[in-house]
Amino acid sequence: MQPSSRRIRPRRRTAALVSVTALTLAVSTSAGSGHPTAGSTSAAGPVAPAAGTSPLGPCMISGSTGVQMSEGIPTPTGYARSTGTVRALNLMVDFSDAPGQGRALDRFGEFFPQTTDWFRTSSYGRLDYRPQAPIGDWLRMPKPFKEYGIERGAPFDPGYRELVQDIVSTADPKVNFQDYDLLNVLITPNAGPSALDTVLSVTFAGNTEAPVADGVPVANASFVYSRQDDGSGTYTETGYRVLPHENGHVFGLPDLYTQDGGGAVGHWDIMSEDWGADNDLLGWHKWKLGWLDDSQVSCAASPGTTEHVLTPLTERGGGGKLLFVPVDAKTGYAVELRTQAGNDEAVCKTGVLIYKVNADVDTGHGPISVVDSTKDSGGCTRSPNVHAELSDAPFSPGQYFKDLDSGIRVTIAGKDPKGNHRVYVTRGP
Ligand SMILES: [Zn+2]
Repeated sequence: MQPSSRRIRPRRRTAALVSVTALTLAVSTSAGSGHPTAGSTSAAGPVAPAAGTSPLGPCMISGSTGVQMSEGIPTPTGYARSTGTVRALNLMVDFSDAPGQGRALDRFGEFFPQTTDWFRTSSYGRLDYRPQAPIGDWLRMPKPFKEYGIERGAPFDPGYRELVQDIVSTADPKVNFQDYDLLNVLITPNAGPSALDTVLSVTFAGNTEAPVADGVPVANASFVYSRQDDGSGTYTETGYRVLPHENGHVFGLPDLYTQDGGGAVGHWDIMSEDWGADNDLLGWHKWKLGWLDDSQVSCAASPGTTEHVLTPLTERGGGGKLLFVPVDAKTGYAVELRTQAGNDEAVCKTGVLIYKVNADVDTGHGPISVVDSTKDSGGCTRSPNVHAELSDAPFSPGQYFKDLDSGIRVTIAGKDPKGNHRVYVTRGP
């Protein structure tokens, strides 16, 4: 779900609070869960060394146990694997009061191959996302859409439980659910309200209380409704982006928008804004998902001044991608170099992005906030559905950021002919 973008169009209602409630309810059932797919053993997130023995240990911040979906590293088990081959089952679903219009495979084609390509690019090829649609027709549910009581913020029980049970029993003769790591339910766009009015799309992640199919719980399922058409004529290029957002939850990522919209992180992460021009994930999320090697992450935990070189985050290959400066065991500053490349097509100011990560803040409540190097500038983009103010947030050579409370200072010292940026971190009074 993404209420942030809905604020851009005044006629959209705001329902951020209930959306957050829905997600946390879904996630709250995840404690102590195992992997949903038989034969899969790796957990989501990086293969992290023990915190006490690695130089990155002090940067592996974590939240309290009460936080249901945290930015902490490592990601708890129960979510879908985020590296290697991940098999996504796609079912196109319709109802007697909302019969599918056109071919079901055309609905599938609104999201693929773009979603596969998006994950390959963002993960540097580490996530081999394999979408399958073993049932090529609309899967007709036994009850009309309105009888499931699906509305924005609807909890899993009872409506979604009934819907999942009906999906499982209808699809089961043709589908072995054990063959898949996650489920995408692509609802016929004429069921429910327009996404311009209310975004119904939602994910229930790590949900081991979900109905069981072929011996495995349908624990990680994304539901996509309507069409996120921003009216700019780019639906065929950007309308798919709700799915990588929803699948981000399946891999354990929290929402970065808040009740106030996308003002905390802007267009710097698809978990913040998934309407409009393409955008990538923050480096923090790439580390959390296991897409960065430990050698690509610097942890500036020592007192004094340390020097770090950042290469563009979207660029494949070695080099520093993420610098993290821990403040305490739950919070810290992340530093990375963003350029207009890869999935980051809306970047209008290249530079060093600095943001605070708080593993103790739950999904939808602002676990990450970007530091704006140019407050109240109005930003450098007028692209629709891109939060403008933060679009020119990155720092340039010669600028610095200082957190007076922690005494942490990050100085952008310069850049080399290849565009790599040199950064100094000073810790102390
Ligand atoms: Zn979301």
